[in-house]
Amino acid sequence: MRLSQMLFVTLRDDPADAEIPSHKLLVRAGFIRRLGSGLYAYLPLMWRVLEKVKRIVQEEMNRTGAQECLLPQLQPSELWKMSGRWDTYTESEGIMFALRDRLERELGLGPTHEEVITAIAKEMIRSYRQLPVNLYQIQTKFRDEIRPRFGLMRGREFIMKDAYSFHCDEASLKSTYEAMDQAYRNIFSRCGLDFRAVDADSGAIGGSGSQEFMVLADAGEDEILYTEDGLYSANIEKAVSLPTDAKPSRFSTYKKEPTPDTATIAKMCQCLGCDASNVVKNVLYQAVYNGGKTVLVLVSIRGDQEVNEVKLTNELTKLASHYESTNILSLTVPDEKEQQKWAAKSLPLGYISPGISDDYIAKNASVADKFLRLVDQTAVDLTNFATGADEVDYHVTGANWGNDFSLPKLVVDVRKALVGDRPVHDPNGELKTARGIEVGHIFQLGTKYSQAMGATFTNEQGEEKPLVMGCYGIGVSRLAQAAVEQSYDKDGIIWPTAIAPYEVVIVVPNVGDGEQMQVAEQIYAECQAAGVDVLLDDRNERAGVKFKDSELIGIPYRVVTGKSLKQGQLEVVKRADKSVQNLAIATVVPTLVTSIKADKKAS
Ligand code: ATP
Ligand code: MG
Repeated sequence: MRLSQMLFVTLRDDPADAEIPSHKLLVRAGFIRRLGSGLYAYLPLMWRVLEKVKRIVQEEMNRTGAQECLLPQLQPSELWKMSGRWDTYTESEGIMFALRDRLERELGLGPTHEEVITAIAKEMIRSYRQLPVNLYQIQTKFRDEIRPRFGLMRGREFIMKDAYSFHCDEASLKSTYEAMDQAYRNIFSRCGLDFRAVDADSGAIGGSGSQEFMVLADAGEDEILYTEDGLYSANIEKAVSLPTDAKPSRFSTYKKEPTPDTATIAKMCQCLGCDASNVVKNVLYQAVYNGGKTVLVLVSIRGDQEVNEVKLTNELTKLASHYESTNILSLTVPDEKEQQKWAAKSLPLGYISPGISDDYIAKNASVADKFLRLVDQTAVDLTNFATGADEVDYHVTGANWGNDFSLPKLVVDVRKALVGDRPVHDPNGELKTARGIEVGHIFQLGTKYSQAMGATFTNEQGEEKPLVMGCYGIGVSRLAQAAVEQSYDKDGIIWPTAIAPYEVVIVVPNVGDGEQMQVAEQIYAECQAAGVDVLLDDRNERAGVKFKDSELIGIPYRVVTGKSLKQGQLEVVKRADKSVQNLAIATVVPTLVTSIKADKKAS
């Protein structure tokens, strides 16, 4: 490609709305252009990067026997109603764009494709003889994200590779899951990324089978907890750890004590002279189920611990059938306005006890009339603890489960693991923290969708069984930007060679110089003949501008037809470390071919 023919515009200044380096650089270097919130045009340079990522994804997926297809992006609501996800995805904080067609039929714009693929499998897969199969597509997904940001990292329209596998049993699912794990490792390595596979939350369906692939970068939206021995790493949403031991309690008899103005744990501990681990903290949440019921949830947890809302959501989802529902729409800490909707009287916030009376909830058909009380394992073992007295400015001390408060029947693990905690496998170790960008997720779904949608097959024994499923996603456009977030310097992007839009840029300092142009054309033709992706900067611009641009757009190798031409040599500069080689004209392209090959192998 000749730069003089390209729509190529670089910006001197960072775009005002860009917060992280990769976003700034991709806009400045003319790879992407914003059209609206979370909406970006992939310009020609970016499209080449995306095509290269896609090619790598296709090669590694095909190698496992997966087959590429393309599914509709417009999805009938009936499918999502069958799976029970229509309400969750369209109401409240739902992320699906929903619309009506001219016949008033409801449709959603695909944020993901479990429903579509399960509907197809239901019609096409009859027998165990057709299993296992794994289908994938690379396609634009639509999600009405609450906070679109960071350019392609969290878009409302983005490119995803999603795969769905079908099996006759768990063992077959596990084997494909492992093949996907390996394929993902190959893909991310080949794209030149520094990544880590971590245990991930798999929602209320539980199971051990979910892993995310994180590109390590400070700008990552996810937090990872890991151990240095390499034996444990998990998304903080999912992470487990050993809590520290509670300090011995200094209380021995049950007493109500005045504790004015101590609505926080820190203040109350100071006032009572106790440690936060001697406290049972009672956190009030409001859960809205898709059946329409609002449920007030009281979580009792040790005072020095925090609630992990992802774990709590999973526990509450398991209880959905108690409230004629299948899912929860939202989980929030109710603010004053929300409280007014259901509170019969003003709540003793900051002083709530585990036994707070259900009379605080006004009679209302859409609100469950009793608190749903859960206790975290950390609070179960406490004795002689301090907690709220259900009266503002008062706490009780020396309390015990069984005597003073009944222990909630639902004992759960909803505790947030934190950096510095002891890992479960090594009580002498310590959890470290890192930030990551989630570029992929592999997931053992089991029969969640097949059961809900009636997708069954006949097994070897002639019995009708629900299909066992797995799903596997890669954020293709997010991955491309994540590569930049990991690889840039003050002058611009440093693309890993395997996904660079061009591998070589030939810079002609003076296009008016006949010899320079002629040699440049010769190298250009040689590169093309050798299968090297080459860009020729034949613009009538100052040399300085061309050098700056070539660094900004991050092409791995730059060939300059400059001063050394007099000695029959060309200057070859490596973008990553700016190292310079002067090579005889005839050896330039063979040398480049070798270097490019080595780069791709190394990653
Ligand atoms: P996140 O936790 O970041 O919101 P997710 O769990 O919703 O992601 P999945 O449904 O597992 O994501 O989608 C598969 C992959 O698609 C993710 O691993 C991620 O790389 C990518 N992805 C998800 N949402 C977006 C988005 N809004 N913009 C760009 N890529 C995305
Ligand atoms: Mg995910």
